[in-house]
Amino acid sequence: MSLEKYKEKRDFKKTPEPQAKNPTRSLNRFVVQEHHASHLHYDFRLEMPETEESKTIVLKSWAVPKGLPEKIGDKKLALQVEDHPVNYIDFEGIIPEGSYGAGLVKIWDKGSFQLLNRTDKLIEFILSGQKLNGRYSLVKTNYGGRQNSWLIIKNSPKTV
Ligand code: MN
Repeated sequence: MSLEKYKEKRDFKKTPEPQAKNPTRSLNRFVVQEHHASHLHYDFRLEMPETEESKTIVLKSWAVPKGLPEKIGDKKLALQVEDHPVNYIDFEGIIPEGSYGAGLVKIWDKGSFQLLNRTDKLIEFILSGQKLNGRYSLVKTNYGGRQNSWLIIKNSPKTV
């Protein structure tokens, strides 16, 4: 997944969302954007290389329909969506009617993370945000035969 999909889906003459830039160093930030699209969801984004081997930094992105897990052991469905450019991390605004993802976007939480482990099917990290703190993991499940289906799980601090 590259930023091509991000660019394809958007008309930058119409949407206030940022055009893509490609920085080469990650600041290890995360953001959760509350997105009042046709269905309210939360977009969870981690600033990291596009792939384990890549030098291109993007926001790996998941749409979380039912909100982020709150208690240890909670699991929430997270659907991976197209990588977003790093400068999307500060985006808040209204995507106009007729544009992809039309509706209000506002930042629900942001902060930094420490990456513990990353494979194609598992990403483990510690979040330090205003609302989200502690150990979390993203696990690829392909639930329902969907290639983009993951779970985001709040883990016990003791699990390593
Ligand atoms: Mn969204």
